[in-house]
Amino acid sequence: MLIVKKFGGTSVANKERIYNVCRRCIEDYKKGNSIVVVLSAMGKMTDVLIEQAKDINPNPSRREMDMLLTTGEQTSVALAAMAFDALGVPAVSLNAFQVAMHTTSTYSNARLKRIDTERITHELDQKKIVIVTGFQGINKYGDYTTLGRGGSDTTAVALAAALKADACEIYTDVDGVYTADPRVVKNARKLDEITYDEMLDLATLGAGVLHNRSVELAKKYGVQLVVRSSLTNEEGTVVKEEVKVERMLISGVASDKNCAKISVIGLSDKPGAAFRLFDALAQANINVDMILQSVGRDGEQDIAFTVVGDYADDAMKVIEDSKKRIGYEKLSLETGVAKVSVVGAGMMSNPGVAAKMFECLYNSNINIKMISTSEIRVTVLIDEKEVDKAMNAAHEIFGLDEA
Ligand code: ASP
Ligand code: MG
Repeated sequence: MLIVKKFGGTSVANKERIYNVCRRCIEDYKKGNSIVVVLSAMGKMTDVLIEQAKDINPNPSRREMDMLLTTGEQTSVALAAMAFDALGVPAVSLNAFQVAMHTTSTYSNARLKRIDTERITHELDQKKIVIVTGFQGINKYGDYTTLGRGGSDTTAVALAAALKADACEIYTDVDGVYTADPRVVKNARKLDEITYDEMLDLATLGAGVLHNRSVELAKKYGVQLVVRSSLTNEEGTVVKEEVKVERMLISGVASDKNCAKISVIGLSDKPGAAFRLFDALAQANINVDMILQSVGRDGEQDIAFTVVGDYADDAMKVIEDSKKRIGYEKLSLETGVAKVSVVGAGMMSNPGVAAKMFECLYNSNINIKMISTSEIRVTVLIDEKEVDKAMNAAHEIFGLDEA
């Protein structure tokens, strides 16, 4: 079997943990499997590097940020290779250039386009454990890129797809995917299985356990994922196309505090207004999330939308700079907001989930600022201070508290 194993930052935070990772890999290697290991930067290394950058220059260029952040993963793979060597197992570390992991050119948020597999396959044929840097790629300018925070998961899934691996295991510091963040909801429970679609929504909406693009890729290429703890031997959660058991209406509750609401007031109520606004943002590579368009009055309308918090200032600047072209009266930014979502494939065949969600927020006296839904999800935008209360209330009303 060819197994891709990805270990996150906490799993390689220090010498003991690195040895622990190596031992877990060696167990499977000794059974005759080929092992490809994807590693994140050690512990909080990526955060430390970001702070160092901001200290030198509050507005570092994204290219140089990628140049800096890729050193984190390069450190962990080299150290792991040395640990394998000390344990007497042949291993080799490879970075994005050595593998050749091609991405789009956007720094700090690149997408993987193609992975060359020759080098890895060659090393595996030599019976080596291959350790690959997560999170990084190279672009057409011959520069390093990174895949966005948490991107090592995506590296692992993409490698599993490219190498046609038999298994892709994502090792982390929790023992699987939970119905809610256990730090916020004390009755949260581990799920044995979850569908790609549910996981995708949960990941996108703030359940920090998997990078959302990794789930997208897994679904696209049919890579079955297992999320499990690097510190225990618990079974973990399997992420796949369909789950066998009759499901609860809702499989999870997630929240995301890294968001901001932008309101554009007094746009003309004619065709093209929304296009010009969102086109300007798209040109600047800024993703828009929830969108609310008001009913038109006197030939005018308002549009409000949310963006990832880190991009709020950029988005404001883009809209200000294109004021002439877009044509609007007023622009405002609201921070301190957060999204709370309930996700579940069971929603498709059961009406009333949205109503129940709104009822539960009403009972908790929480005001809803924006709403968006999909076939398997209801998301509300609320005051950031109410998030924990909302999460617990939703978890309870949808029956997730009981096992
Ligand atoms: N080291 C990167 C981060 O902290 C990538 C990852 O861990 O997946 O975001
Ligand atoms: Mg992660």
